[in-house]
Amino acid sequence: MTENTRKKIHNDLEIVPVGYANGIAPGFPLTEKEKQYMIEDAAEAYGKFLTALGCDWQNDPNSADTPRRVAKAYVNDLWKGRYTPMSEITSFPSDGYDGIVIERNIPLTSMCSHHHQTIGGVVHVGYVVGEGGRVIGLSKLNRIVEHFGRRGAIQEQLTSAIHQAVDKICENNRGIIVSIVGTHNCVSCRGVKHQGASMVTTKASGVFMENDNQARKEFFDSIKINNGTHPV
Ligand SMILES: [Zn+2]
Repeated sequence: MTENTRKKIHNDLEIVPVGYANGIAPGFPLTEKEKQYMIEDAAEAYGKFLTALGCDWQNDPNSADTPRRVAKAYVNDLWKGRYTPMSEITSFPSDGYDGIVIERNIPLTSMCSHHHQTIGGVVHVGYVVGEGGRVIGLSKLNRIVEHFGRRGAIQEQLTSAIHQAVDKICENNRGIIVSIVGTHNCVSCRGVKHQGASMVTTKASGVFMENDNQARKEFFDSIKINNGTHPV
């Protein structure tokens, strides 16, 4: 019989202070009623923001409900990870498998903390199970990416947050590697306005840091097979 370990993603996996855009909100997790109050407060404030920008939003049929739409999008989708806990994470005995486990091209939708513009891209995660170690349910890696991505984000810190979560859940692992290839709207739509540039960040530990580089090479070769291009 398989022994499963369930872990709740909670404050022990958070690596930035409560209240920061890339952290959880005070009082996390919020009840549905608390989220409703938050949406009302945020909608009122966003109406003032539009007024300050010279937008007669109350009389514009396309804008009249925009403050509420924006507030709902933040609480329920864009910043969901700050308010709503992810489901429990299940890990399983590895049953003797000692190779690399890689999940490629996990979709990422996030938002930069600096400009509140979207970040799109993919996350690649690899790990090696240790003796008597545990593997993680595959879709749970996607859930970890969603949980930490759905916030204000700094790509470098997001890479570390996902790395730490996988590290804690895959007990006795021999190494973890997380690579994010992100496209930032704040680069393509404002400021320098360059389309097509992507940012690659990688956080590695254990065997992925060893001098012979074999595990790291296998990881990046695997990503190359899938994408047709090497991300770094
Ligand atoms: Zn930005």
